[in-house]
Amino acid sequence: DNAQPKKPDWIRVKAPTSKGYFETRNIMRENKLVTVCEEAGCPNVGECWSQGHATMMIMGEVCTRACTFCNIATGKPPEDLDVFEPGRVAAAVKKLGLNHVVITSVDRDDVEDGGAEHFAQTIRAVRKQSPDTTIEILTPDFIRCAPEALEVVVEARPDVFNHNLETVPGLYPEVRPGARYFHSLRLLQRVKELDPSMFTKSGIMVGLGEDKQAVMQVMDDMRAADIDFMTIGQYLQPTPKHHALDRFVTPEEFATYEKAAYGKGFLMVSATPLTRSSYHAGDDFARLRAS
Ligand code: SF4
Ligand code: SF4
Repeated sequence: DNAQPKKPDWIRVKAPTSKGYFETRNIMRENKLVTVCEEAGCPNVGECWSQGHATMMIMGEVCTRACTFCNIATGKPPEDLDVFEPGRVAAAVKKLGLNHVVITSVDRDDVEDGGAEHFAQTIRAVRKQSPDTTIEILTPDFIRCAPEALEVVVEARPDVFNHNLETVPGLYPEVRPGARYFHSLRLLQRVKELDPSMFTKSGIMVGLGEDKQAVMQVMDDMRAADIDFMTIGQYLQPTPKHHALDRFVTPEEFATYEKAAYGKGFLMVSATPLTRSSYHAGDDFARLRAS
């Protein structure tokens, strides 16, 4: 039985038609930039792009991993890293006039440092052209790299270092093959050890088949690794070939996760059906810094 649960009305998505949406799209096209907003078919694209918020995806469009929830193409990347890409990201950030930018990437297990230096160059290029823009990066796990890879990225001093755990440990083999739950946790803990002033962030999706107890355990694990911010959002199956959707988590259940997470000491939590790790990231971060 492949029947999927029916989409509830709290998963509502507005059509992307605003002027701001098209302006954002044009800036991305002009700078030949790929966004995760489009590649992942994010339901918030209309809202985010109208406000000039986009999450850029660097290091190409083909990922060397094959997470079963993810809509990014997987395989052997056809091209080397593009040395001009950091400059194009910086140009787009400046043109968009962003207060906060989220930069993510595909995984490049074919590159020795996993793209660490490329991330660092991108951070530095953005910083140079837009010194007041806060920079959030959402990185791969660098699992096959020497420990120095992570150090290179941290030394470039992003404001927020995000790496998503994506799901509970029991679902890793089917959801995130190629990744290891405790490696990812430890990665974030190391970021904090390397630079205690840097904010760390992680997130999971729900509706993949996890139970509530396991979600609570992930929160405890994250806090034990000193992670500051947490996001929890509803998994949406991109195509029938992707990981099956187990259920739609109700807004009430999300509210209980949010409350529990704040109770466990996270500084910032976003837990709603349409939460994505980059959703309202800038607004939330600005609020936190002002408080
Ligand atoms: Fe893009 Fe993130 Fe907004 Fe989705 S939530 S449209 S990925 S910025
Ligand atoms: Fe998608 Fe990231 Fe997994 Fe690659 S590593 S398949 S981009 S979620």
